Amino acid sequence: MSYKINLNYLQATMKITTFNSISPLRMTCFLLISAFLIQCSSITGLLFPVKNDVGLGAQMDAQIRANPKEYPILNDVKAKQYVQSMVNQLLQSPAVKYRGTFPYTVEIIKDDKTINAFCTPGGYIYVYTGLIKMLENDASLAGVLGHEIAHAELRHSANRMVKAYGAQMALEIALGQNSSKTVEVAANMFTGLALLKNSRDDESSADEYSFKYMQSTSWYPGAISYFFEKVKGNGGNAIEGLLSSHPLPQDRLDDMNKRIKDAKLAPPTEQNLSSRSYADFKRRLP
Ligand SMILES: [Zn+2]
Repeated sequence: MSYKINLNYLQATMKITTFNSISPLRMTCFLLISAFLIQCSSITGLLFPVKNDVGLGAQMDAQIRANPKEYPILNDVKAKQYVQSMVNQLLQSPAVKYRGTFPYTVEIIKDDKTINAFCTPGGYIYVYTGLIKMLENDASLAGVLGHEIAHAELRHSANRMVKAYGAQMALEIALGQNSSKTVEVAANMFTGLALLKNSRDDESSADEYSFKYMQSTSWYPGAISYFFEKVKGNGGNAIEGLLSSHPLPQDRLDDMNKRIKDAKLAPPTEQNLSSRSYADFKRRLP
């Protein structure tokens, strides 16, 4: 859909300009702007429409489910519902664009040694018990989930996959038409989630959007900073997995503290952190 609209727009612009007499300067400007438009939209808009992110995510989700040794999904309906309801509350934010396009499902991976969460293109979210058990309130986990939603909304890993494989092949993978490449993508995923590895800029944007989503909820919007503090104070091997897909430079913590200050937030309370309900949730986990 957006492919057609964009092409029509370019054609329309061209038609208008051919009927007018234009100076060389205006022509240069037109060409520069056209080149800019084509470059900007080449990955996300024109060549790989956003609805195909769901196909990419579904393929990755299938590979994850087919590999319980690497990704032991927790079979606990209540625990899953608890986390899914947090995701659903975040999705109510007007800043979330693709709530009707992406499925935004969540699964818990039973692995206490891994402190991580990740999200495929199209919004298939996974969170490890290691991360859940490290946190101490609902609001901190919601902040992390908001961060994962933002990666999908901003199409970070979809962009990386389109860059790595080209739009045509990414489309074939999304449509399930290229099983050998899909296996390759899975292999890439299983060796350290390289395709899901986010850049520093991606991390900053995801934190910024998570804060926005949190502001639409009843949780304390700055609670992800508790998670940052935990990670900082926790050194050691367990956090390597986390740092590989979510690098945590000091700037992320500083930026979040600045957002909290700029938004003039009142200090958090038990009501907007919700640590008692979270403790019950953790106690029920295996
Ligand atoms: Zn991230």
